Amino acid sequence: LSTSSAIDEPISPSIQIDHTQLLINGQFVDAASGKTFPTLDPRTGDVIAQVAEGDAEDVNRAVAAARKAFDEGPWPKMTAYERSRIMLRFADLLEKHTEEVAALETWDNGKPYEQAANTEIPKVVRMFRYYAGWADKIHGLTVPADGQHHVQTLHEPYGVTGLIIPWNFPLLLYSWKVGPALACGNTVVLKTAEQTPLSALYVSKLFHEAGLPPGVLNVVSGFGPTAGAALSSHMDVNKLSFTGSTATGKIVLGLAAKSNLKPVTLELGGKSPFIVCKDADVEKAVELAHSALFFNQGQCCCAGSRTFVHESVYDEFVEKAKAQALKRVVGDPFKKGIQQGPQIDNEQFRKILKYIRSGIESGATLESGGEQLGSKGYYIQPTVFSNVQDDMLIAKDEIFGPVQSILKFKDLEEVIQRANATSYGLAAGVFTQNIETANILTRALRVGTVWINCYDIFDAAIPFGGFKMSGQGREKGIYGLSSYMQVKAVVTPLKNPAW
Ligand code: NAD
Repeated sequence: LSTSSAIDEPISPSIQIDHTQLLINGQFVDAASGKTFPTLDPRTGDVIAQVAEGDAEDVNRAVAAARKAFDEGPWPKMTAYERSRIMLRFADLLEKHTEEVAALETWDNGKPYEQAANTEIPKVVRMFRYYAGWADKIHGLTVPADGQHHVQTLHEPYGVTGLIIPWNFPLLLYSWKVGPALACGNTVVLKTAEQTPLSALYVSKLFHEAGLPPGVLNVVSGFGPTAGAALSSHMDVNKLSFTGSTATGKIVLGLAAKSNLKPVTLELGGKSPFIVCKDADVEKAVELAHSALFFNQGQCCCAGSRTFVHESVYDEFVEKAKAQALKRVVGDPFKKGIQQGPQIDNEQFRKILKYIRSGIESGATLESGGEQLGSKGYYIQPTVFSNVQDDMLIAKDEIFGPVQSILKFKDLEEVIQRANATSYGLAAGVFTQNIETANILTRALRVGTVWINCYDIFDAAIPFGGFKMSGQGREKGIYGLSSYMQVKAVVTPLKNPAW
């Protein structure tokens, strides 16, 4: 299947599915309706397992368990140090089980096993250790107010948090939300994506083995309009955090507003510019533009999906970008050396092929790829378009697939205007050797992250989130904590007999 000479050796990690039920109050249980849904292998479209299909009734049960664990249970009442130690023990257990967890992630999602095992699961472990470190360092301030009052602030958890995640990085995004939510002392009801329910169930069991009390972390598998909507509109959920498409983000925000006005953190879509200036190191820019787009089968919210290249280096860049795409190793994600696996499902696969057709029909030049790869599963050839114009659909919509669009620009003012001419504002890449140019672009781009001469650097401490319709609030780092705690001001009169 691979486009070039893959090292075709299979990797056979130990793989088994232990859990397909909902995790409520520390127990694996069937859905109240008894319903199940199939989760599929993107390599073939075959059924991997039947998974319990949670809906409103199960969300009610999970929220009740989380409420009890918050109001009566030990979690927010434990010392922060004890909470931190449970999180650290979980991180150790997860690290020990990297192979099984990465295998589940690859089976359910289609991402290369080597990527899951060597990059993603270690990042999940790191994230839990990072937030475990914060648990006992969250504290308020003493405020020097006018008048005779002692004023202090307490940083308190919201209570029950509802966390909704997508399928592209199932466990990584689990860690971005569950980590800070628990570190701040909240309890959790997590709704996984219907395409990838398996890994969160497996690791949440490990969390309980690490000592997490029942009810603190509940996992409901199921669909968006049923389980996801029930969580978003639940009257007893105190805070919501959602990652997914901008269209669904609007629905979720509306449901939160119409129910109990719970605050909402949103991490949504993007159409991120990757800007290659005339003085850039072109070789390096080509390589990073390639991974910025094709990483994770192009299924990244911050994919560098509008590659703007200065006219003076444009032809050289296109030639090299094409060569790089032709070298990309696509195939069974359970084989060694594979860089790209199948897309997540038939729906995304069809959608991406439609965008490729629209690129061709609207007059962009197809430099490489453009078609399905093989005849089974959801593989797509790494596709490169040059001569892309701003008004083409492939330059405007989030494709979420392995399709690189290369656009030409003449000067900085023009590229700033064009890069910002989108409703999204998640991230940007800037490639230049000139510090002045880097400073000008960094300040002018209306995005939540600017990577200069690098891309996709996702350290646990670096905040991430969107401007404009790419989201609200931040995840990761110290900023990510503020999404999961609220500030209480405490004012006490000072009685000093000398005054
Ligand atoms: P999606 O919005 O369809 O689904 C995301 C989650 O929302 C899933 O769990 C889904 O079941 C749930 N959902 C769907 N309808 C719902 C509803 N009516 N009420 C409540 N929940 C509902 O997105 P997707 O296709 O699964 O994921 C891809 C999208 O996620 C892309 O647009 C991508 O850019 C975005 N994304 C953003 C980030 C980020 O950090 N900004 C990270 C990863 C993915």
